[in-house]
Amino acid sequence: MIETIAVVMAAAFGAVIGSFLNVCIYRLPRGISVVWPASQCPRCGRQLSWFENIPIVSYLVLRGRCRTCRAHISVRYPIVEAITCAMFTLGWWYYGPGMLLVSRLVFGCTLIVLFEIDREHQILPHAITLPGIAVGFLFSFFTEPGWMSSALGIVIGGGSLLAIAYGYYFVRHEEGLGMGDFKMLAMIGAFLGWKLTVVTLMMASFVGSIVGVLLIATRRGGMKSALPFGTFLALGAAAAATVGQRLLEWYLSLY
Ligand SMILES: [Zn+2]
Repeated sequence: MIETIAVVMAAAFGAVIGSFLNVCIYRLPRGISVVWPASQCPRCGRQLSWFENIPIVSYLVLRGRCRTCRAHISVRYPIVEAITCAMFTLGWWYYGPGMLLVSRLVFGCTLIVLFEIDREHQILPHAITLPGIAVGFLFSFFTEPGWMSSALGIVIGGGSLLAIAYGYYFVRHEEGLGMGDFKMLAMIGAFLGWKLTVVTLMMASFVGSIVGVLLIATRRGGMKSALPFGTFLALGAAAAATVGQRLLEWYLSLY
């Protein structure tokens, strides 16, 4: 019984947090405060009442439209809420209560926000990545991966992408990677430690190149159409944070 209540609460809490992540995704790139003013319809500006702010449910009841001006509400809202809800529920089950759970959930929330902002705007706001580095490092004193691995993760994660960015610039005289990418990988390093940061970078590059080849093959984009690398870093980091350790052990056992 207590188990069931805990899972339901984790799910509800996750959905509410997901609703806040939507606010961050919409407002951070536009330079609007995430705490003030209260949520409103972006078209008619009417302030939303409490029953229009219920995660997932409101979208379904309103059928994805504003009550007054009938403007379409982006399907991104319920999707982000559902994913965050699932993350909190599965995280509770997978990690169990403790500091690692808190660290992973905070990390997961930043990944969701960075993924979506990078996908929509091709930017990775410093307002998330820089505090993220500090928070991840702070967590490492109380749980995985330990402060030493975390510090190495920041240096190796940030350093490797910075080196690649400079190298690309040196050869091609144009920016290949955005400057947000290296800060994001430094943040990933802070939360996951240096080993899983290497796993993240490998997975992100692997998935990124497959998607890139598919886009070129289906002629949806040329060689140079910018695929935001931060979205792949977010996916790679999510995989590394959950199954990365086992993947690493399996890989090393082959030799
Ligand atoms: Zn409206």
